[in-house]
Amino acid sequence: MSLLEVNDVTKSFGGVTALARVSVSVEAGEIVGLIGPNGSGKTTLFHCIAGALAPDSGDIRFEGRSLVGLAPAAICSRGVGRTFQLARVFPTLTALDNVLAGQSHRGERMLGAMLRGSAAAVRRRAHELLTLVGLDALAGEPAGELSYGQQRLLELAAVLMGDPRVILLDEPTAGVNPVLVERLLVALREINGRGVTIILIEHNMEAVTSLSGRMYALAMGRTIAEGTPQQVRDDPAVLEAYFGTGRLGSRR
Ligand code: ADP
Ligand code: MG
Repeated sequence: MSLLEVNDVTKSFGGVTALARVSVSVEAGEIVGLIGPNGSGKTTLFHCIAGALAPDSGDIRFEGRSLVGLAPAAICSRGVGRTFQLARVFPTLTALDNVLAGQSHRGERMLGAMLRGSAAAVRRRAHELLTLVGLDALAGEPAGELSYGQQRLLELAAVLMGDPRVILLDEPTAGVNPVLVERLLVALREINGRGVTIILIEHNMEAVTSLSGRMYALAMGRTIAEGTPQQVRDDPAVLEAYFGTGRLGSRR
C-alpha cells in the first residue's frame, strides 16, 4: 500500500477540465516532483488532495483511507501538510509566532501534543524548526518584515510544526533568490531525511530534478509522463508540452 494514492481523479470548472482521470501514487519517504506548463492542473491536484476542492470523481487515499469528503482541517490532522503557490504568513506576528501558529492546523494532533508536552517544549520545537530553515536569528521579527524568500521558508517551518507525514509544496522556489533556494533545498533534504514525504510542484527544473526521486508531468489535466527525473525531463511528450506548438501526443 502506498502512502498516498490518487486514483482517476477528475475535476472540472465549468467547461474547463483541470484534471482528467489523473492517478499518482507516492510511497512513504519519497520526494516526488510534479511538473507541467501553467494551467496543467498541478495546483488543482493539490487542492483536491488537501480538501480545498472536492474531486468530481475518483478517489484519494492516504494511509489506505479515503480523504474525499473530509474538511481541510481533518486532512491536515491526518498528517497532510501543505504550502501555497503564494507564501501565506501572518505579517504582523513574529516569525516565532507564525511557527507556533502552525500547530493550530493540526487539530487533534495539537490537543495531543498540548496534553503531552509543555509550552516550553513547544517553543523549543518552534525554534528548532526556525533553525532548520535558517531563520532562528529572525525569530522575533514580524513576518511581514522578512523577504519573500524568507517568508516561504517560514511557511515551511510553520507547516512542519503540524508534524505532517507528507507535505505538499506548491512552487516553493518561485520568487526566491538563488541563495535562499539553496537554503530551501538543503532544508527539504533534511526534512525528508527525518522521514517526511515530500510532493512538490516546481518550475525550477534544476531544483526539482535534483531533489526528486521520481517525477510526474501533467499537461492539460493529464499525466503525460512518469519516471525518474531524467526520464521525465527527456520524455518527448514533456518536451512537446513545454516547447512544442503542435497537438500533444496521445501517450499517457
Ligand atoms: P497549474 O497549477 O498547473 O498552473 P491549475 O491547477 O491552477 O494549473 O489550473 C488548471 C486549470 O483549471 C486552468 O485552466 C485554470 O484556469 C483552471 N482553474 C483552476 N482553478 C479554477 C477555478 N477555481 N475556477 C475556474 N477555473 C479554474
Ligand atoms: Mg499552480
